[in-house]
Amino acid sequence: MARTDMDERPGGWLAQYVSAPDASRVPVTVTTDRLGIHFQLPGGPASWWPYSTVHAERDPENPSHARVERVNTGEALVVLDATFLETLESRSPRAADGSHRSGSGLPKVAMLVGGSIALIGGLYFVALPAMAEIMANRVSVDFERELGDGVVEQLLEGQAVCDDPALTRAIDDVVVRLRSALPDDRYDFRVTIVDDTLVNALAVPGGAMVVFRGLLRNTSSQEELAGVLAHEMQHVQLRHGTRAIMRQLPLLMGGGSDAAAVLGVLGALSYARADEEEADEEGMRLIMAAEVDPRGMIAFFDTLERITGPGSSMLTYLSTHPATDARRSTLSAIAAAAPSVSVPFSTGDLTWRDVAQRCS
Ligand SMILES: [Zn+2]
Repeated sequence: MARTDMDERPGGWLAQYVSAPDASRVPVTVTTDRLGIHFQLPGGPASWWPYSTVHAERDPENPSHARVERVNTGEALVVLDATFLETLESRSPRAADGSHRSGSGLPKVAMLVGGSIALIGGLYFVALPAMAEIMANRVSVDFERELGDGVVEQLLEGQAVCDDPALTRAIDDVVVRLRSALPDDRYDFRVTIVDDTLVNALAVPGGAMVVFRGLLRNTSSQEELAGVLAHEMQHVQLRHGTRAIMRQLPLLMGGGSDAAAVLGVLGALSYARADEEEADEEGMRLIMAAEVDPRGMIAFFDTLERITGPGSSMLTYLSTHPATDARRSTLSAIAAAAPSVSVPFSTGDLTWRDVAQRCS
């Protein structure tokens, strides 16, 4: 379960935990990852503060320190090095106070889909495969979006789409809640529901997601759907698909027709196991940061096992996301390590079961 995104600072940051205004300070060591701040009180449980629940600024009492306040609890961390704010800013522009914003985003390269693809391809042929990694990190969100939207457009050709207002609203509620807990909002996550019995869901670079009605029908709560979407959103946020596509670019370019290219991209979106594990773990952290009951994400594995019997030859969610005990126990461990508050979703007078059946 190696994490590549843990704090660059070896050993973490020295800080003081303050339980309430005027309370005595307890020394702690703070580390950060993509979604939040971690520390442990002496003899106490591990604490994790998602970025969506904190506000940080220079400590008014000592400008060489950073002060991180947890919203609505009165708790705070005083980090004894104000450069912590820069780390926080790079991880979550939302958490860091506006005055520290440097306007740093992804390095934008002047790259448009058409002609530049040939250039990338040319570079790829002569360079090491590591080039794909570098390219994936440098392409703009606009480029990813153009690429992903093109794939979805092809995929949806001739498909009936569901746009029942109650169903659309219920799914939007999930996306909005998850999105608000991400460290930044560079991706515009959108879901299209396809009127098809296929039990599947996928996300493409740039944030477009496709959910088949067959999958919705088999979820027993919005929390289960949230588990699927959180996993898919992390594939986008972590650029798994973009990287996979960059790696296969020469092959995709030789594909000929649009349809062949789309099949190639969809093939590239069958991610490596390490990417799947990362999407699971970060997806679960996102679920918890968004205050969604984590049991939904775990329960969906049981659902998948139940609905997919032998003889289902179609490309299903399970074929790319096997419901293994290892996945289940990893997710359960993350959920248990940082118990969190959860706020239920609501579909008003209708039950989720009713809403999930709708399609017009
Ligand atoms: Zn996945």
